[in-house]
Amino acid sequence: MNDFTNCPQLYKYRAVDLLPEPPSIDAERGKLIHSVLEDLFELPAGSRTFESALELLPTKWREQLEGKPELAALVLDDKEWFDRAQALLTNYFSLERPSTFESTYRELHLERDISEEIYLHGYVDRLDVAPTGEVRIVDYKTGKSPKPGWEEKALFQLRVYALLYWQNEGVLPKLLQLIYLGDSRVVKSEPTEAQLKSTEKILRNIGDEILTALETNHFPTKKSRLCDWCFFKAICPAHN
Ligand code: SF4
Repeated sequence: MNDFTNCPQLYKYRAVDLLPEPPSIDAERGKLIHSVLEDLFELPAGSRTFESALELLPTKWREQLEGKPELAALVLDDKEWFDRAQALLTNYFSLERPSTFESTYRELHLERDISEEIYLHGYVDRLDVAPTGEVRIVDYKTGKSPKPGWEEKALFQLRVYALLYWQNEGVLPKLLQLIYLGDSRVVKSEPTEAQLKSTEKILRNIGDEILTALETNHFPTKKSRLCDWCFFKAICPAHN
């Protein structure tokens, strides 16, 4: 949905034509940190220390390489790679103390048919249910936090998760939390029923636009600064 909003043609390349893209070093670093933090919460509370997280790093990276051996060519300097990962984990421990609370779910799969033709699903990095029943949805980002004024756009993803959880479980999450490890900043928001209803309306509208694009096979290009990072620029009609 994000791709379609940014550029319908990009959505077509990725979701309809299923064109392959080379792995991105930043995305792979993100996956590594996510898997370390996921496993960290499998340990008993007292063992969820910075040192344990560091110990998990090489094991998780080995597993990632086994699944995608071509990644080895992306990492030219092992020390630099692990130093950067360590710095992100250092930032994580400056923001949270995982030994002081229990996390209920990691990589929780949420799904729902939001209409007869639109199925929506996603994986939540972490969802914590407090002993009092309050729900917190957490997403880790290994990049830097958005500039002032752009937080709302970033929170949209978490509002979608909150909407799915609310509709499936009947519990309105109390807190949404984006943890930016790139610059040690947390963006928080308390979702309201009105916000989540408006999120649902936006999702339905985007879903309907995607269905129309599929029916008419019309996926217009939308030039923006994102084009400079788009792998498909070389074949995109807007640039050729
Ligand atoms: S290069 Fe730009 S316009 Fe073309 S598909 Fe990519 S994002 Fe869209």
